[in-house]
Amino acid sequence: MSTIQHNLDSINHELNSFETKFGRPTGSVQLLAVSKTKPIEAIEQAIEAGHRCFGENYVQEGVDKIQYFNEHYTEKNLDWHFIGPIQSNKTKLIAENFDWVHSIDREKIAKRLSDQRPSEMAPLNVLIQVNTSGEQSKSGIDPEEVLKLAQYIDALPNLKLRGLMSIPANVSQYSEQLAAFNALKDLKISLESTINSIDTLSMGMSGDMQAAVEAGSTMVRIGTAIFGARDYSNLN
Ligand SMILES: *Cc1c(COP(=O)(O)O)cnc(C)c1O
Repeated sequence: MSTIQHNLDSINHELNSFETKFGRPTGSVQLLAVSKTKPIEAIEQAIEAGHRCFGENYVQEGVDKIQYFNEHYTEKNLDWHFIGPIQSNKTKLIAENFDWVHSIDREKIAKRLSDQRPSEMAPLNVLIQVNTSGEQSKSGIDPEEVLKLAQYIDALPNLKLRGLMSIPANVSQYSEQLAAFNALKDLKISLESTINSIDTLSMGMSGDMQAAVEAGSTMVRIGTAIFGARDYSNLN
């Protein structure tokens, strides 16, 4: 068994135990394997182990991997999620290659992604990134602005608004983690009453997975615990 397969098994096991502990249906929390900076071979090992959903932060790196797997793994049905910050000159590559985007934080980016999504592809699944940590975090929009952006996205033809994502400030206290995640859950509930396609809460990473599952996460994003520590020295 590869190290990656072993790691995936133990995280899936841990996730299942949290689902049980908090009365969540088994399998209701999806594991997104964050493969940024990791080579093709690492992703191949995860695919061998049965994994299908991968998250990438850097556009060109992600697109290179997607194109490689489109050529070599046509029957495998992989799902590619873009989870990094988005510059407007990169939206076209994202729209043409990814299945999901977690990090929408402004109308301009949403509009470009919709305009640039090829018509033969399914609508791009998108999440609004929300800053639930106030001044401790600079990424994501303020909670008060979410409804307006959600309504804007809901009216765009080639995007499907699936929910919300957050990267809370790195706090070790469980009660603080839970409070940040509960804030995102409450926002999701308020959106569900006006937008039918909302079903996703992307929250929880290696250090706060349990609190995320307790608060209602439907997708946790895990990198290091699956693929090992990252080396950024080859990246430009
Ligand atoms: C890198 C990254 C992760 C995974 O982080 P790990 O600490 O390696 O588990 C999750 N979410 C986002 C948005 C990331 O950029």
